[in-house]
Amino acid sequence: MRQGGGTDTDTERIGRAVALSGAGKWGTVPFSALVPHMSSRALSRARGICPDAAGVIVAAFPYFAGYTEGNVSMYARGEDYHKVVLQRLGRSCEALEKEFPGKRFIPLADASPLPEKLAAAMAGMGVIGRSTLFFCDGFGSFVFLGCILTDAVPCTDPEQIRGCAGCLQCVRACPTRALRVVEGRVVFEKERCVSAVTQRKGELSAEQEGYVRAGGSAWGCDVCQKACPMNRGLGTDALDEFKAGAGGYINSLDLDTLLGMDDAGFFREYSGYAFSWRGRQPLIRNLRILEGEKASRASER
Ligand code: SF4
Ligand code: SF4
Repeated sequence: MRQGGGTDTDTERIGRAVALSGAGKWGTVPFSALVPHMSSRALSRARGICPDAAGVIVAAFPYFAGYTEGNVSMYARGEDYHKVVLQRLGRSCEALEKEFPGKRFIPLADASPLPEKLAAAMAGMGVIGRSTLFFCDGFGSFVFLGCILTDAVPCTDPEQIRGCAGCLQCVRACPTRALRVVEGRVVFEKERCVSAVTQRKGELSAEQEGYVRAGGSAWGCDVCQKACPMNRGLGTDALDEFKAGAGGYINSLDLDTLLGMDDAGFFREYSGYAFSWRGRQPLIRNLRILEGEKASRASER
């Protein structure tokens, strides 16, 4: 069932259906190959969704729109990828149900019980970097992954998982040492990661505020992605919903603007973005921390 593998007929039929989603790359992996890597909770969720799950079609949706400045992570600047990926995979599922009558095809994105990065790597679509990110061949780490869980045609064997070159540029660039080398191995500590900290609710500790200042971002962090050689020389292949300059593409958020609206106004304005799910307050908090940093730098001059 993989591109270039399995029976031609199945591959072509799946390929035609997946092409309707606009995915930049796709592949397949047997569900059984993922089972050893899933928690019992994830497994029971997946089996609840598709009781006779046999295969997973993995699709990568590019969002690289060029490196531009801004205090919002690049993944959250265009339309909310959860909605976009599910909608696009839905088109493919409809076509697949026609191609394989009586079989189930369920689209899954982000809150999926499936280990998406691993599935993509096992499907031969790219590399898992030391930074823990998945780098899709031809599109770098700037892809949203989505999966279709199915009880249809079995897939060919999973591919050997490929690792990155191990240059450690991501480790050196990480502003908070969330990525660091311990006993010869790169470890990732989510508690120190700017991306995770900017998404926390409530008050931050002094240490966490320091991480926000070090990252310089109101939402998310792209530092380790920008540092990675695998992300150099990429084409701006973003899908329409994620293109820079497309209606609504946002590079930065502004403190005064957020303070000037209530929660209802915030959701009216921003509910179509991936940063909106936490609401207005964490963004205001992060921007205040960054404004304080700016003010203290200015007073030092
Ligand atoms: S920066 Fe180097 S070590 Fe880090 S993910 Fe990229 S290739 Fe791997
Ligand atoms: S996202 Fe930022 S803080 Fe998190 S590991 Fe990468 S560089 Fe470090």
